[in-house]
Amino acid sequence: MKRRVLSLQGWRWGVKFFLAATFFILPWIKVSGESALRFDVPTLKLYFLGKTLYLEDFFLLLLLTLAFTFLFLLITLAFGRIWCGWCCPQTVLCDFTEKLQKRKVLFYSVIFLLSLWVSLTLIWYFISPYEFWEKLFRGEPPGRLTTAFFILIFVPTFFNFLYWRRTFCAKICPYARAQTVLFDDKTLLIALDPERKEECINCKACVRACPVKIDIREGSGIACIACAECLSACDRVFLKKEKPGLIRYLWGSKKGLTLKEFFRPAIWITTLLFFLSLGGTIFYSFKINPVEIHLGRDLGFSTPKEARENTIGAFWLSLENKNKSPQKIKISTVPFLKVVPEEIVLASEEKKKVRLLVFVPKDIKKFEIKIYLNQKKLVKSENFEVL
Ligand code: SF4
Ligand code: SF4
Repeated sequence: MKRRVLSLQGWRWGVKFFLAATFFILPWIKVSGESALRFDVPTLKLYFLGKTLYLEDFFLLLLLTLAFTFLFLLITLAFGRIWCGWCCPQTVLCDFTEKLQKRKVLFYSVIFLLSLWVSLTLIWYFISPYEFWEKLFRGEPPGRLTTAFFILIFVPTFFNFLYWRRTFCAKICPYARAQTVLFDDKTLLIALDPERKEECINCKACVRACPVKIDIREGSGIACIACAECLSACDRVFLKKEKPGLIRYLWGSKKGLTLKEFFRPAIWITTLLFFLSLGGTIFYSFKINPVEIHLGRDLGFSTPKEARENTIGAFWLSLENKNKSPQKIKISTVPFLKVVPEEIVLASEEKKKVRLLVFVPKDIKKFEIKIYLNQKKLVKSENFEVL
């Protein structure tokens, strides 16, 4: 029994620390020289784990958002408000400051600093924290937009920690309201064991432990964030009797579900939609080229007289390296013809416009230009007729 009390809340605190640390540390982590996750507003680029997504690649982001939405629906349908109790930043940060509420000065100081750090961290998902501090140390204050954005985040965050706290979950959070619609009669919830409710000694340990101050014995309702504090409190009471507590996780009204019961039609459909959108995201992420390539004829060019044994086809090749790492472009033709240049190297995020010359013998009327990335990947091929 002792192990269950410790492990449930122990696991919960572990998850909370991990998520809070991820949120605060992520903007500081660099992958391929850029933030692991950051949307750069001036250039409208999204940096994501070493990849750079441009505005034209944003359908990929939409697909990913869709995948996350279906995952959220799936988790809510199957495991109820597990997000609220275990992962939501509102719960996590309220839990961290809960115990300080009685020591007013310390509480105000901590929530002020926490609101400050949360607001700055949110800004660092748009402006590199390294750039931000470097400019500040040089004596350059943040721009007007950054300051306005900071105030817009800081003020509600501070008042949220000061006044709203748990009320936010029951009265303001739209996700809390949406969840009630998503639940079915097999969704995981925390409730008083209906077979043992007569054993309740009315010690009210569960009510005292509840951060939203509800009595789980009367049912959970919209205010319950499924934090399982009442469950652990009741477990502690029954520890002396060497019995499990009276509050437990239930699948609707059942203690357990068979796999067939768990995988009901709504779960199958949401799982399918999740994997379809995730599959689409993965598929298209491999299709995105790190180099933007445009190829068009240079119509102002005519073959010089001294080279008239060949026709020279002239093209403009516009290249943009969307990545931080250098990229090598190789150009060849079918049938094999002399091409100048055959290779172009692009530095990190470099844009280049290159004149491409193809030397075509008189007997050839058509040819195909093939452009390869880093020696192997064919990224463009276009057919041309000799003019
Ligand atoms: S902690 Fe358990 S025994 Fe005590 S009041 Fe709550 S349900 Fe009853
Ligand atoms: S009723 Fe239990 S699970 Fe719900 S919020 Fe209160 S302590 Fe957490």
